[in-house]
Formats: sequence, C-alpha cells, structure tokens
Amino acid sequence: MNDMNPVGAKTIAPDLPSLAISVRGLAKRYGTVAALDGIDLDVPRGMIFGILGPNGAGKTTLIRLLATLARPDGGTASVMGHDVASNPQAVRGVIALTGQFASLDEDLTGRENLVMFARLWGFSASAAKTRANELLAAFELSDASRKQVKSYSGGMRRRLDIAASLIVTPGVLFLDEPTTGLDPKARQGVWKMIRSLAQFGVTILLTTQYLEEADQLAARIAVIDRGRKIAEGTSRELKSAIGSGFLHVALGDHKRMDEAEKILEKALGAPVQRSAEGAQLSVVAGSTRAANEALGVLISAGIELSDFSMGSPSLDEVFFALTGQPVEEESPGEAS
Ligand code: ATP
Repeated sequence: MNDMNPVGAKTIAPDLPSLAISVRGLAKRYGTVAALDGIDLDVPRGMIFGILGPNGAGKTTLIRLLATLARPDGGTASVMGHDVASNPQAVRGVIALTGQFASLDEDLTGRENLVMFARLWGFSASAAKTRANELLAAFELSDASRKQVKSYSGGMRRRLDIAASLIVTPGVLFLDEPTTGLDPKARQGVWKMIRSLAQFGVTILLTTQYLEEADQLAARIAVIDRGRKIAEGTSRELKSAIGSGFLHVALGDHKRMDEAEKILEKALGAPVQRSAEGAQLSVVAGSTRAANEALGVLISAGIELSDFSMGSPSLDEVFFALTGQPVEEESPGEAS
C-alpha cells in the first residue's frame, strides 16, 4: 500500500487495535424513550460499516455517543481503543464527523473554506494552502475552488463538507446520512469519495436511509430498530437469512392491488410489501410449492398477473421482513 492516500492520509500504523469501534450493551434514554437499548457492535479497522434503521431507531444517537457528543447511560464503547466515557478527549483526537465540525462559510470560496479549516487546525499559511489544494483535487473540486460555496450544487457542497472534515485525516469518520437529498449523480460522486477513503484505511461508520447506499458501500450492515440491533451481516448474509424464496408479483389490473395483497398475506402468512411505485407486491414465500399455491389462489380469484418471479429479496425487502415497516424516505434536506 502507498504511504499516502489521494487525500494525503498516512497509512494507519499497524500497532493500532484491530477493532476501530467496539460497543457493548450501549444504552441511552431520553425521558421514557430508550433511544439505545443495549447495542453491541464491533467494527474492524478500515471497514465501511452501515447502520440501517427506520426513523427514530437510534442511528443518530449511536453516532452522537461514539463521537462523544452525548454520554451513554449504560454499557461501554471505545473508538480506536479509547473509551468514550473515560477518555473522550482521546476519542475526539481520532475521529471526524461530517456536518458537525465542518460548517461551511457560504460567502467564502471552496478553497478559502478549506484553508480556513486548516489554519484552525494549526497549519501554517503555506501548509494550509497545500492541504486545501490536495483535498480540492481529491474531491474533484479544483475547477470550482475559486467560486463561492453558495454557488455550489448539493453534491459539491457535500463533497466539500466531507473534505473539510478530513483536513487532518481521522482514524474513524462518522457519516450521518451523507447523501440525503442528493440526486443520483451527486450521490455517485460522494460514494466514490467514500470508497477511496476506505481503501486507504479510514474506518467509516455511516448511517443511511438508502438501502442501495448500504448495499453499494458497506462491507457489513447492522439493522437497528427501537434502540436494539435486530440483525447484522454482509448484505448477502442478510438477504440469505431472509431466504431466497421471495415471491414478486405484478398485476395487470392495479385496482385489485389491495385484494391481491390480502390474498397473499393470508395464503403465505407473512407481511406483503408494495414496491415504491406500487406496481409490485413482494412476500416471503419460503418454498416454491407455497408460492405456487398462493399464485393459484390469486388466479382463481380472477386476478390477472402481468409478471411473477421467485428470487432473492432486495435489501429493501430484507429490511421490511425484519422490521415490519418500509424504510421511510425523508424529504431532501431533512437529514437526521
Ligand atoms: P432519524 O433517522 O429519524 O433521525 P434515528 O434512527 O437517527 O432517526 P435518533 O435520532 O437516534 O433516531 O432517535 C432515537 C429516539 O430517541 C427517538 O425516539 C427520538 O425521538 C429520541 N431522541 C433522540 N434525541 C433526543 C433528545 N435530544 N431528546 C429527546 N429525545 C430524543
């Protein structure tokens, strides 16, 4: 491996702990709400680890506790071997958090913002310029570097935000919904940056409301719901735990969707999920035989099928099977 990565990070020394994050029984209450109710988590160094959960599951609380922005009520957590409760200063020295430490000045240019942050970190004027230029190049912002941030697109702004949190390359980077509200092209750009950081040893804990994002980026995913971890594994493991016997059905007549949903639910005894566009129904069938029987009931009720297939669930369907609810997509700009 090179000694320096594209954003100037030194390769992490081999004597660091093998786990970047280790969490046992972590708990946090807000009044009567158990925001976190005894979470265990191990994140190996250099991994992109995804945290998935519906609104209010506790994702942001977990990141806040790990970033020492809030104190746990129970359990333990360490980041790069430093305990968050007894040694928060040491934790702060090895982490970065987007959107928290980097608050961009809209009237300054991209370069001026990065130089300002580098100066705040104690870089000399010339070292700050060098670092700003390195980051602008690595985040493909060199062309826009002399424009005011207020003229930037959402994707450029998010890339600059991440760049600003990497003036000093952290051991662990927390990304709380890094692409919420971005269009697909801008999202791809941010993903590219996140991947290149991970390639060079930065551990990344990311929360996301986009299952595709977790699928694309995260080597492991923990699904949390109501403050508890309900599943963990690679995307493939999570999918195969739910089973490959997933029945997907599309109807010729959309008006009979409700009826078809009820029939499938009764025939297979499992909750039925509708695709976002409402055109497809998906349900765990378990076996081909059970799927055939359920299709038979639909057909004998006179419901015309335009398509059906059996296969692996999407991560979206895994999430639904685990939590009984779809991932709620927030409006752009409402990142938690
Ligand atoms: P979202 O995606 O909606 O932001 P989340 O998974 O990040 O959800 P958290 O923000 O961690 O969830 O919230 C978990 C629970 O704790 C929620 O019920 C929330 O209302 C509650 N909670 C979080 N922070 C506070 C706070 N400062 N005061 C009171 N309740 C809180």
